[in-house]
Amino acid sequence: MRPIIGIVVSLNKEREFYVGGKAYVDAIQSAGGVPLLLAAIDDESMVSEFFAQLDGVLLPGGPDVDPVHFGEEPMYNYTAIDPERDHVEILLAKLALQNNIPILGICRGIQMLNVAAGGDIYQDIAAQREGTLIHGQKAPRWYPTHAVDVQPGTKLFKILGESRLRVNSFHHQAVRNVAPGFRVSALSSDGVIEGIEHSSLRYAVGVQWHPERMWRKYLVFKRLFVALIDEASNT
Ligand code: MN
Repeated sequence: MRPIIGIVVSLNKEREFYVGGKAYVDAIQSAGGVPLLLAAIDDESMVSEFFAQLDGVLLPGGPDVDPVHFGEEPMYNYTAIDPERDHVEILLAKLALQNNIPILGICRGIQMLNVAAGGDIYQDIAAQREGTLIHGQKAPRWYPTHAVDVQPGTKLFKILGESRLRVNSFHHQAVRNVAPGFRVSALSSDGVIEGIEHSSLRYAVGVQWHPERMWRKYLVFKRLFVALIDEASNT
């Protein structure tokens, strides 16, 4: 049996249908998992029942996390807020952490993972930090525009096998205070946190870039999904 990886999809409220990124589904399938999509419906018991079916969780990219979830008022322009996705993904992340179920957070997902675990994020890195690089690239989605240094001794280093990589970048927010139990696994040259991971759980990994947009051209990034599936196979 291939492991089942849960991904939450958003409601497009104007057109009344659910939308999710095909690139995440393709990456999970290609790495040997079965992607299972959950409509973002704010119903705690339903989310728990969905979680019970899973061997792993993928938190994908998306709109900004409502700052209320890390104890702040909105201070800067935000892309959008999706209350249902916020609630459902925080619940799923907490369940995954509590039950030591493998979880991979990508872009919004690394931020969501950190917030769910008790950390916080910058609402706007350009406004709140000095000397921040351009993290909202205009280049094609697969194309890497800034470097990251992968921290030696981390799980991420073990997975990728490289200490310096170039990655794509589509974010104006980033992890600020890393949640208890987590550590930094990658940094860009301006000091923005581009990767976190739990120090003792099997696989609770977040990256700020979009490996699902890169792995077809740069195969190294497929290893993030393969490592998730490998761990989830032991669930
Ligand atoms: Mn970046």
